[in-house]
Amino acid sequence: DKGLAVFTSGGDSQGMNAAVRACVRMAIYLGCKAYFIREGYQGMVDGGDNIQEANWASVSSIIHRGGTIIGSARCADFRERAGRLKAANNLVQKGITNLVVIGGDGSLTGANLFRQEWSSLLDELVKNGTITAAQQEKNSVLHIVGLVGSIDNDFCGTDMTIGTDSALHRIIEAIDAISSTAYSHQRTFIMEVMGRHCGYLPVVAGIISEADYVFLPEYPPPHDWPAKLVLKLEQERSAGQRLNIVIVAEGAMDREGNPITAEDVKKVIDERLKHDARITVLGHVQRGGNPSAFDRILACRMGAEATLALMEATKDSVPVVISLDGNQAVRVPLMECVERTQAVALAMKERRWADAVKLRGRS
Ligand code: ATP
Repeated sequence: DKGLAVFTSGGDSQGMNAAVRACVRMAIYLGCKAYFIREGYQGMVDGGDNIQEANWASVSSIIHRGGTIIGSARCADFRERAGRLKAANNLVQKGITNLVVIGGDGSLTGANLFRQEWSSLLDELVKNGTITAAQQEKNSVLHIVGLVGSIDNDFCGTDMTIGTDSALHRIIEAIDAISSTAYSHQRTFIMEVMGRHCGYLPVVAGIISEADYVFLPEYPPPHDWPAKLVLKLEQERSAGQRLNIVIVAEGAMDREGNPITAEDVKKVIDERLKHDARITVLGHVQRGGNPSAFDRILACRMGAEATLALMEATKDSVPVVISLDGNQAVRVPLMECVERTQAVALAMKERRWADAVKLRGRS
């Protein structure tokens, strides 16, 4: 008779639906009551129809759909104790003491805080007469498990986050499409791709599209990058190459921390090479479309493992995220990963790029 709820929070990514489906179906298979919480923490705070019981059929035909069918949001209310108090009451009223949060490091931090506060929130709800002592007793421990949905692959502790592989497919499809037209007209294409603090998407896209130059957040180029870029593009053209691809991460910067934009790169190419250079900003296309086969199976495995982890949790268990380690879905302490991810973000902000790369580790 355990109640388990799943919700998606922060930015969406392809594969979240597959994760929701796996959590719900594994929960039902194990005899739990499964719930959706719509619109992330906002739905938890607002309650009502936002918290709905799910059945086997309610997650049919969603595995292939991008985005998240249960909605995602950013929620200022949940950052305040008053909001979390409302959320706690809404969960207790439905007997939900197990949560799967699918989101980024912010969403997981919020969930961890909620778990730490849970007993004091319940004390307050009893004191003000919102719930009974019996309800408090029955719902005394909140268990949480995190799944990381992010197209940037910017979370420490997992080899791949849910959505990254699909985003790479989108980027590569776009570069392939552009390459044929660029080849016909001897053009240089400058592609802006996502990656604010993490260069995984641009670096992998650069390798697999045979790009000539890649600008990444973690490896800022020296101040004379325009000359180096020009030299490289000239060499490629004189070796007979008819098209050039330059990839610029949205978070690319120089060593002083000034942004390097696709416009900056175009200006250099226009002024010094007089190539026919065009910019393509992929933007939200990278988040869109159907999840890849890899993301679907990754999310299925992670979702099922998340539910199993919740069912096995005891009151002394440490909250975990489900991570991919090699080819295994493993449980890793949630706050360890969140803290490391936040340390990477800080190192990037402070322009300690080598530290950031070292801290991030394998992924
Ligand atoms: P993305 O990687 O897409 O940015 P994220 O999960 O990191 O995803 P955030 O906007 O940081 O996105 O967080 C999503 C929501 O989680 C916030 O709107 C807020 O409701 C909740 N949240 C984040 N941090 C905290 C916190 N420290 N305390 C309480 N709630 C938080």
